[in-house]
Amino acid sequence: MKSRTKVVVIGGGIAGCSTLYHLTQEGWSDVVLVERDELTSGTTWHSAAQVTNFGMTQTMVGLKSHSIALYKKLRDDPEYPVGYHHGDGGIRLANTEAQMQGYRHFASMARGMGVDYEIIDAAECARRHPLISTENLLGGLWDGEDGDIDPAQLCQALAFHARKAGAEVYRNTPVTGLSQLKDDTWTVHTEHGDIDCDIVVNAGGYRVNEVAAMMGVQHPVASMEHQYFITEDIPAIAEARHRMPLLRCPISDYYSRQEKGGLLVGFYEQDCKTWGMDGISPDFSNDLCPDDLDRVMDVLEGAFERMPALTEVGIKRVVNGPITYTIDGAPLVGPIPGKRNAFCIIGLRAGLGEGGGHGWLLAQQIVHGEACYDTWVIDPRRFTGHATVEFTAVKAIEDYQNEFRFHFPHEHRPAGRNAKTTPLTPVMAAEGAEFTVVNGWERVDYIRPSPEFRPTPSFNFDAVFDVVAAEVANVATNVGLAEVNGFNRIEITGKDRHSFLDRMMCGTVTKRDGRIGLGYLLNHHGCIKAEATVANLPASDRGGQRIWYGSAAASEYHDMDWLTAHLRPDEDVQLRSLTNDQTILVLAGPKARTVLSACARGDWSADVFPWLSVRECCIGFAPATIMVVSFSGELAYEIHVPNASLYAVYLALREAGKAYNLRLFGARAVDSMRMEKGFLHWKADLITEFDPFETGLSRFVKMGKGDFIGKEALLDRQAAGPRNQLVTLKIDTTHAPAHPGASLMQGDKVVGTVTSGEYGHRVGMNLAYAFVLPEFGNPGSAMELDLCGDRIRAQVIEPSPYDPKFERMRS
Ligand SMILES: Cc1cc2nc3c(=O)[nH]c(=O)nc-3n(C[C@H](O)[C@H](O)[C@H](O)COP(=O)(O)OP(=O)(O)OC[C@H]3O[C@@H](n4cnc5c(N)ncnc54)[C@H](O)[C@@H]3O)c2cc1C
Repeated sequence: MKSRTKVVVIGGGIAGCSTLYHLTQEGWSDVVLVERDELTSGTTWHSAAQVTNFGMTQTMVGLKSHSIALYKKLRDDPEYPVGYHHGDGGIRLANTEAQMQGYRHFASMARGMGVDYEIIDAAECARRHPLISTENLLGGLWDGEDGDIDPAQLCQALAFHARKAGAEVYRNTPVTGLSQLKDDTWTVHTEHGDIDCDIVVNAGGYRVNEVAAMMGVQHPVASMEHQYFITEDIPAIAEARHRMPLLRCPISDYYSRQEKGGLLVGFYEQDCKTWGMDGISPDFSNDLCPDDLDRVMDVLEGAFERMPALTEVGIKRVVNGPITYTIDGAPLVGPIPGKRNAFCIIGLRAGLGEGGGHGWLLAQQIVHGEACYDTWVIDPRRFTGHATVEFTAVKAIEDYQNEFRFHFPHEHRPAGRNAKTTPLTPVMAAEGAEFTVVNGWERVDYIRPSPEFRPTPSFNFDAVFDVVAAEVANVATNVGLAEVNGFNRIEITGKDRHSFLDRMMCGTVTKRDGRIGLGYLLNHHGCIKAEATVANLPASDRGGQRIWYGSAAASEYHDMDWLTAHLRPDEDVQLRSLTNDQTILVLAGPKARTVLSACARGDWSADVFPWLSVRECCIGFAPATIMVVSFSGELAYEIHVPNASLYAVYLALREAGKAYNLRLFGARAVDSMRMEKGFLHWKADLITEFDPFETGLSRFVKMGKGDFIGKEALLDRQAAGPRNQLVTLKIDTTHAPAHPGASLMQGDKVVGTVTSGEYGHRVGMNLAYAFVLPEFGNPGSAMELDLCGDRIRAQVIEPSPYDPKFERMRS
């Protein structure tokens, strides 16, 4: 066994083997994999191993396409061939028009990744899968690439090729401890000795948190028991003379694929069970949980009704094994929050289908710092303080129970609610708030007009449209109040705070006390990493000179890790998170100044306290910090309040606002208004795939200012010219918004992808942002939006159609 290497991957299931293989593909051969037993002895060996190309975001589709291409290559490799049934095809069934509409959206989205799904009716489903009945069936989504693979052969082949490229694999070598040294390298302690390395990767499957504990962390991963059975041969399959397509059923929660002459049928029962919450026996290896078919009776009947042939044959074998889940169903692949040189590829619940792609994206992140796609949907830092294993289990159960039922736009499911709240959450609930969830926080989405108001989430505009219109109208004509909780805030102190931020940001941000700037942080590839407002607070009785770095709620761990990682040892800079201590109240509208003046002493006139200023004060008697910044395009004040004073400040503002028609507004109204102003959302419109020029942010880049992270790469990008361009579009329909991921077409050619869409109530336009090919980037360019299967005319317009001179927010 080596005593020193570059990377140690812990775990020899599909996650670990794929990571090892892809590290060698990216050019790192001094890498090892350490497995406590034999390869695949965790979950991988007994997997149903279905490999689909279906995904709900472009990153997921792209990584699954990579799996399929890789598995085909391995299948065809004469030196070490792998059994892979590729192209049996698969149907996701639907019995409601709403599900069919969702499938049409996913087809539009996948087209942008070069993947074609077909939407077929019930008769066509039955023609392609002769065993199914069309009773209670509308149709489905057909993925022609669907199939299944031999999981053990796949892992052995990946390990074989990795070894050929120089990697080493140590089987029967349990990792017993991890120590991080002062220089941030690691020592991996195993039963057979220590290995020093630069980087560790946790690929421990259902033992993820045993490995995590060795480095003093816990991951939001919980395991569920999951069962399938394999039937005896079914005569109708032999008669069909072609392999049966795969089936996935959101109506009765099962899947099936052909296994030899019979079927393999797996279940997602409502009466489901977590597994291993109180620890896992060290002897559980190459092992299964006891069969319990009684538990799946509810869904079994649905499968029997759909495929009556199942009732005529016996069951040959039952498999019940642990399967890992996270909070949102997608795995955790990337850097471990709060740790250096530590990565994970864990929480895979569809690891055979996705594992090839996840290992690929992880290896790219380890070797190059970033992957070819924006990987936020699988980033471990997307969950923060609320993400305990107990919380994860609650969401895992909900997710398991809804395995094939995708989320509709704005749908937030009931499990695990109230994970993060403020003193105002119950107050807002009493006001009729409908909440959305942002990084665990309950945030007001809109105020329900009546207690019974509960529209069913849909891909079309629904009754919420008019509610949002009314909230926007009040902000535009009077004044609105919104709570923005969980907003990420990092206090930066120390004499080098400005030079530090200068290095982190691609533009020049004001250093003047009492002033605020907006800036962008790039990665080493010159693409967008983060967006932040930088507020310079003067010294006061509340502290010395400080910067408040503010960014999206979801970025809490992401931005802190990025900033911390780039601090130099000789720099006098301290970072302190205020995210969970403070909440923002936004006061917006032409009467906002009058309301503020009525409850806070001081001169708030535009001359004395203009746009982009910050000042400490009291609202009523409670301390607050006010910033003149606006995401709505109206005159607006961000009122930053310690949570202990939040209710007092809220009451003071409500009281002062009574005479001016102050009404609450929520996140949906904010989203509509920001689209009218050309303002972008982190991880929707601001992603690591594009640079600031492509994202329309040239005015925030100062190439001549000296060195900053990403500058060298950005120079090369600038010379090469844009590959895509972010534009604002007017969509010629009022029945539905443009959905993120949807394709923009010219004839059969995909020319762009939507990143955000909302109706702009003040301008009366259905708006979208999209990255389009540069030749479509000019105002007036026309194309068609594939909106859930309908072709709708879309035209590029100038950004910020509402108040293009930005006069209202500066007034
Ligand atoms: C019944 C069932 C059906 C499934 N069907 C499908 C399907 O159709 N399609 C699909 O894509 N997915 C399916 N899955 C899920 C899929 O099998 C898993 O996502 C995948 O196998 C997980 O792989 P892994 O590498 O993350 O974990 P594992 O396979 O569990 O590998 C983790 C490895 O880490 C090792 N390890 C742990 N701790 C240590 C330590 N301290 N030191 C060294 N080594 C350690 C373990 O021994 C193990 O080998 C199914 C799962 C189940 C249970």
